[in-house]
Amino acid sequence: MENFDQIMPLNYSGSEVGGYLNAMDEEFYIHLTVQDKSSPKKVHLKGCERLYQVLKPVLNTLEQHLNQIDTIKDMLYEIQNALEQQIRLSGPSKFIDQHTEYNILFEQLQNCGWDKVNFISPDFHELHLKAIDESEREHILKIWIPDKFPNEGPKYDCDLPQEFQYRWLPDDTLLMMFTVFQETLAMYSQFWDIMDELDKNTWILEPEIPSRKDCRRQIALASGISLLIVVNPLIPTSVPVCHYLGPERVVEPVRAKFNKNIHLWSEFDSVLTNLKQVLELEFPSPSTSKKEEFCIECGICYSYLLGEAIPEMTCDNPKCNQSFHHACLYEYIRMLPDVRSSFNKLFGECPYCCKPLWCTVL
Ligand SMILES: [Zn+2]
Ligand SMILES: [Zn+2]
Repeated sequence: MENFDQIMPLNYSGSEVGGYLNAMDEEFYIHLTVQDKSSPKKVHLKGCERLYQVLKPVLNTLEQHLNQIDTIKDMLYEIQNALEQQIRLSGPSKFIDQHTEYNILFEQLQNCGWDKVNFISPDFHELHLKAIDESEREHILKIWIPDKFPNEGPKYDCDLPQEFQYRWLPDDTLLMMFTVFQETLAMYSQFWDIMDELDKNTWILEPEIPSRKDCRRQIALASGISLLIVVNPLIPTSVPVCHYLGPERVVEPVRAKFNKNIHLWSEFDSVLTNLKQVLELEFPSPSTSKKEEFCIECGICYSYLLGEAIPEMTCDNPKCNQSFHHACLYEYIRMLPDVRSSFNKLFGECPYCCKPLWCTVL
């Protein structure tokens, strides 16, 4: 904010700001919230202990006065004036330089660019930096600033397919860390292109809402049959790990086709293009079908998702074809009076068609 460069908005509408306000060479942490939905408007001023200490004699009057002021900037001028007046009256203090570490933090954020700062917590301990990759995707690097910053490096977290590691040395800056983050994003750009293409053009049954971390997709092939793939984030066009879910007699021909055509796989094409070619099929997609057609519910608990599990067991009787969660089927067979077990398998019968059925012990 002009003339208040250590104060920044804490929300999108700008009705909440926080940061450091300078008065008589001292820095005061302030946090200002304007509730303009209520009428009359209500301004809340919070801040560091020193702010309360200096403003104590005039705090009530000042707050009432702030309610009458239109813009945040004018409010900041008002607070600054009040602080300066009070300090002049009470003489200089020994609190100067108390916030050196915050000055360092602000300078470092400034170097990253304020447009990269997506979020900053009122106590300045958590901040989010935003990077845009080659395909205009947004990525957030969450950073937690320790008390001994910058001697001690910040903790961080981000949504990458492999762990992001940055070894912080005492002379390092947030900009250096952010630059490495951006370089790492560039490394995964092709991987995300591949995953985005799958997400857009096929029905992803799992994960329900894929994150940028997820290398796994369960793709609907037809009703009751799906393909679970795990893509290598570093060589994303290589053949992914494939696992088929569905009744064995339906899965078998698909697997056979895959094995027969695998030599056609080209690392110059995307995973979707390759899968279409190798499996010789068009995937059901959001433009041609509804997702419910592929989310076959469990025949025991009547839901599709059980925690994170989907119904992955299927009765092999072609006339039945009923799907079950592994956990539901296990519980069901375990309770049957004539259950038999051998090694780690339980043998029973399908609750729908009474044909023999088994599942592994959980
Ligand atoms: Zn179930
Ligand atoms: Zn059955």
